[in-house]
Amino acid sequence: MLKVCKFGGSSVANAAQFEKIKNIVSEEKERKIIVASALGKADKEDHKVTDLLYLCLAHKKYGMSYDEILEEIEKKHQAVIDELKLSFDLKPEIENLRELLERKGNPDEIISRGEYLSCRLLAEYLGAEFVDAKNIVCFNYDGTLNIDLTKEKFTPYLETKKKIVVPGFYGVLPNGIIKTMSRGGSDITGSLLASIVDADVYENWTDVSGIYVADPRFIKNPAKIETITYAELREMSYMGASVLHDESIFPVKEKHIPINIRNTNKPSDKGTMIVSSVDDEKDNSAITGITGRKDFSVVSLAKNNATSEVGFLSKVLAVFDSYKVPVVLLTTSIDSYSIVVDKNDVKNSIYEIANDIRTKLECEDVSVYDRLSLLCAVGRNMKQRKGMAGKLFSLLGENDINIKTIAQGADEISIIVGVDDEDFNRALECIYRGFVK
Ligand code: ASP
Repeated sequence: MLKVCKFGGSSVANAAQFEKIKNIVSEEKERKIIVASALGKADKEDHKVTDLLYLCLAHKKYGMSYDEILEEIEKKHQAVIDELKLSFDLKPEIENLRELLERKGNPDEIISRGEYLSCRLLAEYLGAEFVDAKNIVCFNYDGTLNIDLTKEKFTPYLETKKKIVVPGFYGVLPNGIIKTMSRGGSDITGSLLASIVDADVYENWTDVSGIYVADPRFIKNPAKIETITYAELREMSYMGASVLHDESIFPVKEKHIPINIRNTNKPSDKGTMIVSSVDDEKDNSAITGITGRKDFSVVSLAKNNATSEVGFLSKVLAVFDSYKVPVVLLTTSIDSYSIVVDKNDVKNSIYEIANDIRTKLECEDVSVYDRLSLLCAVGRNMKQRKGMAGKLFSLLGENDINIKTIAQGADEISIIVGVDDEDFNRALECIYRGFVK
């Protein structure tokens, strides 16, 4: 049995959090590979080290002093060293960082120092072997991960009897230059290593006890999801539930390695398991999760006989392509279509898009609506149940909420409804109460 454990920024925010990690990893010898983020926020006023590093770069760019920021980074790490009585010599590392900033060194290397430092400290504290991501996590020049080469480089380290600590979030290009991933990328490092070593579980330790049925910002004390499939999670995270970095799912999913979301502050909670498939005889809850978000725009159009016109729809979509705007949802009736897009993606182009459709497709009737929220009820068990959509629509109708658009894919894993932004919170609440509580 082998487990890869990734600890997020809040799990390494200060010395007290380091102690919790030590308890967690020493509890099971299977918890052999540990990936960690940079030191995160210990409280609301505190700052994430990665944010501070980005701030240093911005100050450098505009010719402003970054001394105070470097000092804050130093203090945060020194406090951990002092409280845990570590022998790590921080001064040369901070000087190296200063020197990198002064000579406008590789920005990715500068940003990566957060993970590098947190993991140097964590490795010493755990008595583990520090394996620099620079020596094992390999990128191709196009920015994609070179999984085979990473495997080749990492496998020899597995010989050690000690636990292994690897910094998340960065790796190296073929020319030896450090490259960081997108924000939250330590999740990807964890998933990549779990897939390479064929881990039995990828444990992702954070500051919540798992994934909730609905977002706690909108629903008070929502129930927790015990088990969710990768496919359901993908639906939920696209629609707003932020749990893991999107790209972190793929390496483990391919190998059917379960992800266990756990809470560093409540290690006895079992958390949420993310798996390929579930034995549904045991688990028959109708809905796994309800999610959604505001700020979508809809372009609606109608043209006589459009449905019979060969290639009409592909020409409509080509207009969106030409503005490089991904289409989120497309609903149709006879001779009329509604295309839903993320409001952010069409900030500067929505009226040009509408105009192009009007002129290029000779469509008289084109309108834009930009206050749409989408709500998504996700559940692998919906397939076998009749009346799910009916119940959902009734709940909204009974609560005087107008549904503007409806979508359900043939795989029946989710039902998506569009409502006015103003109705979003109420709609979420009534679906939750109706299906879960
Ligand atoms: N430290 C990086 C960030 O704040 C990466 C991570 O935490 O996963 O985005």
